[in-house]
Amino acid sequence: MTTQQQLDQLEQEILDSNVCPELRDQATQMVFGSGSPDADVIFIGEAPGAKEDLSGEPFVGASGKMLNEMLEQSGMQRSDSYITNIVKYRPPDNRDPSVSEKNEFLPYLLKQIAIIKPKIMATLGRHAGSVFLPDLIIGNDHGKPKQIKVELDGKEEDVLIVPLYHPAAALYNGSLRQTLFDDFQTAAQLIKEA
Ligand code: URA
Repeated sequence: MTTQQQLDQLEQEILDSNVCPELRDQATQMVFGSGSPDADVIFIGEAPGAKEDLSGEPFVGASGKMLNEMLEQSGMQRSDSYITNIVKYRPPDNRDPSVSEKNEFLPYLLKQIAIIKPKIMATLGRHAGSVFLPDLIIGNDHGKPKQIKVELDGKEEDVLIVPLYHPAAALYNGSLRQTLFDDFQTAAQLIKEA
């Protein structure tokens, strides 16, 4: 089976397992992920917003524009990356995803990572980051790569993670733009070296 076929199967498994039915009921569709199934880097956001819910693609709204800009400026191609979210249905009124929603989706995110086998995981914002780094303080830890153990395919694997600010943070706080850009450059350099 190709990597894409494995991802398609996983998407179907989420539907068949009826993950977070209360979110699913009010969402237009699942936003599973997009990009290259053989990517060296996976970007993990928190949950789809209104535009993503309508289009079925992650990061296509205002945060997505900022993400595209950061990728472009640091010499990365969106089409060479894989982009997804921890929670795959839009929470109503754009509220933060709950701990139980993140926990329900986590096994599927881990399967997605196990299929793609990226060299680097870049989390976007504290919601996605704290799933892997429970003590994460985004203001201190952003842009600092860490080697962590993640259970993939039933085996503990070493994975390099770079926690990044959420692109929306740079929309609301202009001074974070340069910080986000510097951290994206760090991520781009790590991919080259990996
Ligand atoms: N914010 C996210 O965390 N994910 C998206 O897909 C869009 C906005």
